[in-house]
Amino acid sequence: EAKKAGRGEQRTFHDAMNAFAKDGLVIDGALRGAIEANEFYLVYQPITNAHTGQLTKVEALLRWNSSLLGPVSPDRFIPVAEDSGMIIALGTWVLEQACRQVGAWKKGVLDDVTISINVSARQLADPQFVTLVSQALIHNGLSPHQLELELTERVLIDDTANVQAVLGRLRALGVGISLDDFGTGYSSLSYLTQFHLNTLKIDRAFVMDIEHSERSNSLVHAIIAMGHSLGLQLVAEGVETGGQAAILEKMGCHYLQGYHIAKPVPPEDLLRFASHLSGAVRTG
Ligand code: C2E
Ligand code: MG
Ligand code: MG
Ligand code: MG
Repeated sequence: EAKKAGRGEQRTFHDAMNAFAKDGLVIDGALRGAIEANEFYLVYQPITNAHTGQLTKVEALLRWNSSLLGPVSPDRFIPVAEDSGMIIALGTWVLEQACRQVGAWKKGVLDDVTISINVSARQLADPQFVTLVSQALIHNGLSPHQLELELTERVLIDDTANVQAVLGRLRALGVGISLDDFGTGYSSLSYLTQFHLNTLKIDRAFVMDIEHSERSNSLVHAIIAMGHSLGLQLVAEGVETGGQAAILEKMGCHYLQGYHIAKPVPPEDLLRFASHLSGAVRTG
């Protein structure tokens, strides 16, 4: 019997483990206590000025190394945390952690960097949210323009009136509001004027094909032109080649983000990236 349990059986066991780890209920269970157990950390991805190459913003991206499941991608655990409501506690942790990091950077080379944080619909619906944001700014000595909140189109359709009011209060504080993954969601153009946005992030799906697909190229061109006429800042996501960066710069895209610039990195590495850049500016 034991001899029959060869590679096939191992593969079956492996598949079963994978299926187990993909189960929302399993993820939900593993998420409980994960904040207290210090299983989360943030990585930071540079966003540079397309024209000067200067580091202007960094996006904080959440990572989870589960003691039970190993590393789990945010694309898998964020939806589960949203369903259970745990995203409120998790999002608060991200906000505090990221603002503390920027407060620490402020004392060094990165004295005026803006941090971008991804925010879920349920967080915006939390009556405490605006207070949490202003407290995080005050506690860490950040000026409001150093914080930008990234929302997806889904957030905007969920509860229009309340979201509008909350975004209005955040803009009044001086915090930036960015529309993430633009072009992939419901993309009602009325969102762009209806909400208090100041930045559009062009989704990677369009940027990816910009060199080879006429259609993607025209689309990105049109998004940039529209952004300009509405007075919005434009960030291109998922820039992976020098060719893409050059095209985007020429089209008037303000900021670039993607593996061509840098991958998301731990805070120490970001500091190194920044001092390398400022060193290059000084000597060049
Ligand atoms: P997003 O906000 O659109 O973040 C960009 C994603 O693209 C990140 O994936 C990033 O690592 C990846 N990326 C950046 N540059 C490139 C590139 O050049 N090529 C490719 N192929 N990928 C690139 P990540 O870190 O896995 O995050 C996935 C999504 O999870 C995020 O998409 C965001 O929607 C969500 N997320 C991450 N952190 C948080 C968080 O703290 N709170 C909330 N609510 N959502 C988060
Ligand atoms: Mg984002
Ligand atoms: Mg995005
Ligand atoms: Mg995304």
